[in-house]
Amino acid sequence: MTIVRVALDVPLSTLFDYSLDSSIAIVPGTRVLVSFGRKKMVGVVMECAMDSALSAERIKPVLQVLSDVPPLSDELLVLLRFCSDYYHYPLGVTVLSALPVRLRTSRLVTLKEAMQYRLSVSGHALDLSLLSKRKVVQHRILAALKLNSLSATQVRALSPSGASALKALSHAGWVEAFSVSAVSSSFTFNNTHTLTLEQQHAVDAITKASCFGCSLLHGITGSGKTEIYVHLMNRILQQGGQVLMLVPEINLTPQLENYFRSRLPDVELVSLHSGLSDGERMQNWLRAQSGRARIILGTRLAVFTPLPQLSLLIVDEEHDTSFKQQDGLRYSARDVAIFRASQRGVPIVLGSATPSLESYYNAQSGRYQMLRLTQRAAAQAQLPTITCINTSNIIIQHGLSEPLLKALAERLQRGEQSLIFINRRGYSPVLMCGACGWLSGCSNCAGKLVLHLKDRRLRCHHCGHQERVPHACPSCGNADLQPIGIGTQRVEAALQEHFPMARILRVDRDSTRNKGTWQAMRQQIQEDAVDILVGTQMLAKGHDFPNLTLVGVLNPDGALYSSDFRASEKLFAQLVQVAGRAGRADKPGEVLIQTAFPDHPLFRALREHDFDTWAKTLLAERQSAGFPPFMYQVLLRAEAKHEGHMYTFLQQARDAAIELMMPVDIYGVVPAAMPRRANHFLAHLLVQSEARKPLQQFLREWRPLLDALPAQKLRWSLDIDPMDF
Ligand code: ADP
Ligand code: ZN
Ligand code: ZN
Repeated sequence: MTIVRVALDVPLSTLFDYSLDSSIAIVPGTRVLVSFGRKKMVGVVMECAMDSALSAERIKPVLQVLSDVPPLSDELLVLLRFCSDYYHYPLGVTVLSALPVRLRTSRLVTLKEAMQYRLSVSGHALDLSLLSKRKVVQHRILAALKLNSLSATQVRALSPSGASALKALSHAGWVEAFSVSAVSSSFTFNNTHTLTLEQQHAVDAITKASCFGCSLLHGITGSGKTEIYVHLMNRILQQGGQVLMLVPEINLTPQLENYFRSRLPDVELVSLHSGLSDGERMQNWLRAQSGRARIILGTRLAVFTPLPQLSLLIVDEEHDTSFKQQDGLRYSARDVAIFRASQRGVPIVLGSATPSLESYYNAQSGRYQMLRLTQRAAAQAQLPTITCINTSNIIIQHGLSEPLLKALAERLQRGEQSLIFINRRGYSPVLMCGACGWLSGCSNCAGKLVLHLKDRRLRCHHCGHQERVPHACPSCGNADLQPIGIGTQRVEAALQEHFPMARILRVDRDSTRNKGTWQAMRQQIQEDAVDILVGTQMLAKGHDFPNLTLVGVLNPDGALYSSDFRASEKLFAQLVQVAGRAGRADKPGEVLIQTAFPDHPLFRALREHDFDTWAKTLLAERQSAGFPPFMYQVLLRAEAKHEGHMYTFLQQARDAAIELMMPVDIYGVVPAAMPRRANHFLAHLLVQSEARKPLQQFLREWRPLLDALPAQKLRWSLDIDPMDF
C-alpha cells in the first residue's frame, strides 16, 4: 500500500491520508476522488509516503485516481504551499481554490481543439450595405474580424448575443472557423512602431539577464508601456517561453487581448478571469498547462496558472489594489507573482504611472531595477494641463462650477468629448430632513442609504438593502426631504438640463450592470456618439478615447482627510489615471479639478506631473508615522452579530499575543472603518513589525492560540499585508 497525503477543500490546516494499491503509480499533483465523512470529494495529492501516523483500519482507500489532466507541477505545489504558509490560510482550501471550478469535480475533462473565427473569402468580398443596418451585432463582429481573427470568447465579449450572431454569419458563409495549430516556432511580429530610446533601454534592461530580477517600469500615462510589453513578449516567445501578464481589471482584458493578437497574430493567447464560463476557464487553463497557449492574460487568479515554459511575468498597473483579494485566501497577486518569478528564476516587470509606495521604495533602495519613461511615446501627444478650481468661494450647482460648465460648452462647440469624474454612484449619497435632521441610514449597516432617483429607491452600497423613497420624513412627517451631496445620476441630470442638445452617457456600476453593456458603451464612445461622459473610476482605467480633451474632477477632497492612511496615495493614482484619459491623440488635453484645497501638496504635484516629489513626501510621512512600506502589518479581523462576542474574542487574542513577548508591536482593538455591515459588527486588531521575518515567526506562534480560542457565533480571519481597514 502507498499512503497519499491529500489536500481537500476543508478549512483545516492538515492534509488527509488515504491508501492506494502500490501497483498504481502516482505522483504529487495528481487529482484524486476520496470519501470524506459522508461526502465524496476531489483533492490533490501533495505527498506520497510509505506509512501514516493513523492506524491502518482508519485509513480509507482512494476511490479514483483522476488522470484526465496532467498532475500539477512540483513548482506550482511549492507556490501554493508558500501562499498557504505566508497568508496563514489552510493548505487544502488554497490548493483547491487555485484550480478552475471544473477540476474540483470528478467529471472527466478533455482539452478541446481551440477554434478561431475569421472572414471567409466571400466575407472579405461582402458589401456591408447589403446586410441590414438593424443587425447591429453582426456588423460589429464583421468589423472586428476585418482587423483580426477572434475566439468565441472574444465574440461574446462584443455582445451578449454574439454567439448567435456568429452562427448566423457562419451560416451565411461569411465567417469560417479554423483550429489554432500547435506551437509554431516561427511567427509574425507586426512591429508598427520604432521604440523610443527610453523604451528600447527598458526592453534591453529587462531581458538582459535570464535570471530573477524585478523591474519597476515607471512610465507616465501614454509613454508606451504596453508597447514595451509587446516587444518583451516577442523576445520571450522567440526563445520559446511563455508570458504571464496580470491586469487589475476584467474590463481591460478584451481590448488588450485584441491589441496583442493584432501584433502577434500567430501566437496562441488565452485570457483567464472570472468573466469566463467555468468551461472556458478550464479550457484556457489546460491550454496554458499544456504549453500551447504562449501568452496568458488574466486578473489576479491567473497568477496560479500552471505554465511549464514561464519565462516572464508582467504586472500592469501594479499599484492597483484590486490585485489584493479581499476574502478567503487574502493574497496579493502582485506579491505572489514576484515570489513566483524568484522561484522560477525569471524576470518580472511591474508597470505603472503611479507605482505603489511599496514598489517605489524597493526601487529606491535598489532591490528593484527602476526604469523610467518620462515622455509620451507618440510625438504629438502632450501631457494634459491640470488646473484646480477653488470651490471654497464660488457657487456650485449640483456639483458643477461655472468655469467647468464653460469649459464643457467649449468642447461641445468644437465637437470634442469631455469626461466628468465623480467617485459616487447614485443621485446623492444621503437623503435628509431639513426640519428634524433625520438622515437615510441603513438598518443593517453603519452606512447611509444612497438615493437612486431613476427608480425612486434608497440603496445601501454596503449590504444591498433597498427601500422605496419615503413620501415624508419617517421621523417627523415633514414632506420636504432634501438630497445631500452629489452622485453620478445627479450630475448627469444637471448636465442634461444645462446642455439639452448634448449626448450624455453615464458609466457606473448601475448603468453597466448587464453583461456586455460596458463593451457596447465603449464602442459608442470610440465612435464619437457621445459628447459628455459622466462616470466613476470604471472610466479612469486604461481606456483610450482619442477625441477626449477635457476631464473634470468633482469632489476629490474626502480622501485628503480620510482615516485610511493609503487614501491620498490612492487618490493621486486615480487622478493621474483619469487625467491620462485627456489628450491622448493629437489634441491637447485639459484637466479641471474642483477642490477646496488647491494648495495641498497632492494637487501641486499633480499639476506639475511630479510623482517623485509626491512619493517622497508620502514616504517621509509614512516613515515618521511608522506605516508601510517601513512596517509590515497583519490584521486580525473579527465579525459577529453580537458586539460583545467580537470584542471578547479580539481582547483574548490580544492578551495571547502580548503573552508571547515577541518583538512585534501590538495595537489596541478598534472598530473597522465600517463598524457595522449587513447586521454584523466588525472590529480588528493590528500587529506590525519592521521586517517580514519576525512578523511571520510571531504568526506561527499566535495562530494555534487563535485556533484554540472559543469563537462561537463569530468569524475571524488573518489578513497579511492588509489594504483595507
Ligand atoms: P501606456 O501603456 O504607457 O499608457 P501605450 O503603450 O498605450 O502607453 O502607448 C500610448 C500611445 O503611444 C499608443 O497609441 C501607442 O500606439 C503609441 N506608441 C507607443 N510606443 C510608440 C512609439 N515608439 N512610437 C510611436 N507611438 C508609440
Ligand atoms: Zn424630519
Ligand atoms: Zn446596509
